[in-house]
Amino acid sequence: MTWDVPARAALAADGLDLTALDRRSTPGWSGDKAAGRARTVNRGARMSELQELLYAHGRSGGERSVLLVLQGMDTAGKGGIVRHVLGMVDPQGVALRSFGVPTAEERTQHYLWRIRNALPRPGAIGVFDRSHYEDVLVVRVEDLVPRDVWEPRYDEINAFEAELVEAGTVVVKVMLAISPEEQAERLRERLERPDKYWKYNPGDIDARERWHDYTAAYQAVLDRTSTAHAPWYVVPADRKWYARLAVTELLTDALLGLGLSWPPADFDVATELARLDASRP
Ligand code: AMP
Ligand code: MG
Repeated sequence: MTWDVPARAALAADGLDLTALDRRSTPGWSGDKAAGRARTVNRGARMSELQELLYAHGRSGGERSVLLVLQGMDTAGKGGIVRHVLGMVDPQGVALRSFGVPTAEERTQHYLWRIRNALPRPGAIGVFDRSHYEDVLVVRVEDLVPRDVWEPRYDEINAFEAELVEAGTVVVKVMLAISPEEQAERLRERLERPDKYWKYNPGDIDARERWHDYTAAYQAVLDRTSTAHAPWYVVPADRKWYARLAVTELLTDALLGLGLSWPPADFDVATELARLDASRP
């Protein structure tokens, strides 16, 4: 079972109207859940090999890295992507950062300061659970700063990401799109299961009440920051298995696109083999 069209084409945000998106749909994939899970495991193994290649490349002076930016409403499944998709690769090569309400120190700095400090080093896959996009999402919806402050940020973010790409980072931006109905079920589960209370935040309901404002703010993000150098992908996320498959595909594609090969030995192999043969512990 394979993708009908490449994930990049199936999930591209260009021209997408979020209000019309079916969040239970599975763009690019016509198989069922079992086939989707099997494909995820299969592609995950490939992704893991490619991650090792990226890591090796970084260790031998390479400059490339990958940055996965995850955005989505509460319960959209950002944590599940980290656990189930990034969980398939060696944790040594993954740098996860979560961005919450800015700390007192962060508030004294430019909003990109904490982002710059969290960028993946060469050879790594960086993962942002929320990101600089919160500065044009929650900040815009909740009026945390005036419009003339957040308005220029779209262009500033595009320029910032262009800089990252120029320096060798592939930026993969994923919006996990759930429906309000599915969110209600997931929030209810957090309220009905003691093992899920820790994930619940009363503020989640406040954000949910502003669903339409968030949708408009997400639409503006897609319209204004989906660039050729750092495109957005919109992943329907009501079906967790599909979202995980889709992100696995996108990451695998990004790694394949690097076109890396194993770094050559920086020692003489024949000499070292001879030394090994002659060695007597
Ligand atoms: P969670 O990801 O569910 O742990 O929640 C993190 C919270 O931090 C969310 O409510 C975000 O909206 C909020 N947050 C993240 N970045 C910012 C920001 N730059 N300004 C204000 N709130 C933020
Ligand atoms: Mg939350």
